[in-house]
Amino acid sequence: TPDPTVRPESLPEDADRALRPRSLDEFIGQRAARANLAIFIESARRRGEAMDHTLFYGPPGLGKTTLAQIMARELGVNFRMTSGPVLAKAGDLAAILTNLDARDVLFIDEIHRLSPVVEEILYPALEDFQLDLVIGEGPAARTVRIELQPFTLVGATTRLGLLTTPLRDRFGIPTRLEFYEVDELEAIVTRAARLMKADATPEGAREIARRARGTPRIAGRLLRRVADFALVEGDGRVTREIADGALGRLGVDTIGLDGADRRYLGLIAENYGGGPVGIETIAAALSESRDAIEEVIEPYLLQQGLIARTPRGRVLAAKAWTHLGLAAPRAPDR
Ligand code: ADP
Repeated sequence: TPDPTVRPESLPEDADRALRPRSLDEFIGQRAARANLAIFIESARRRGEAMDHTLFYGPPGLGKTTLAQIMARELGVNFRMTSGPVLAKAGDLAAILTNLDARDVLFIDEIHRLSPVVEEILYPALEDFQLDLVIGEGPAARTVRIELQPFTLVGATTRLGLLTTPLRDRFGIPTRLEFYEVDELEAIVTRAARLMKADATPEGAREIARRARGTPRIAGRLLRRVADFALVEGDGRVTREIADGALGRLGVDTIGLDGADRRYLGLIAENYGGGPVGIETIAAALSESRDAIEEVIEPYLLQQGLIARTPRGRVLAAKAWTHLGLAAPRAPDR
């Protein structure tokens, strides 16, 4: 059977693998999460035990995978990585778990997408480091118990609400990641530019940071694209002017919204008078999956105060009308 673990170097984002911070000290932002993790890592090291199971949740690109890798490095153990959708059968997970060394970190991305049978065998593994496997079928079927090395599961999810309660309860260290401040993203862009040997002015780095949707992954991607423009159309330096022109041509607006964000806001404004409108209606009208809207588009718009969620659906906030350059309708029934 094929190895169900995904090797980090085969991930699509790995244009920026070299940019990943390798220690907690190098990791910028997420101060509260970082401070807590530093304590728990140090405590596990002193006790010589596996660190408690940790869950990272929050929108994509905020550093969940990066932090999991840093944990393994700082604990001085191996890092193994897989993802919920990849683990189709109980045997897939069993194969990984039985190959772990003591105190290793096993990272499961998109853990909300684990199949129920796989989740079922994960529970005793997390609690007692035991696997109960059913061997054979029908009357000949029997259960064998396998002892596992103590390990640390690090789960990552963009959708905390989709985790089953029993799974959620088994994480001793649930950690929410937040969108980054512009100052933090500026530091991230500056560091990335240095590692890429790109010459970015402070104003150039700041412009990219301001328009990166609070997300380091997006900041890295925008920096690479702006650097392309700087090379071909400028003198190679990432200045504010080059960044502004390049981002405009990439469809990233002055507050960092992309085409999908603007289509979402425009739909609610123009077709639904600003809302409230239900998520299913929005998904159908945009031909986007509901998951993509709830995981990728809405979190940032909510955080920026451009939209609000109400029991009757999504509503545009005043700030969104201003940004779209439209007048908000007078709505006496809202
Ligand atoms: P997630 O797992 O939450 O989707 P990742 O850990 O894959 O996010 O991070 C996406 C990219 O953003 C990484 O390749 C890394 O280079 C960069 N990154 C994330 N967090 C930081 C940070 N705090 N400082 C610098 N770069 C970061």
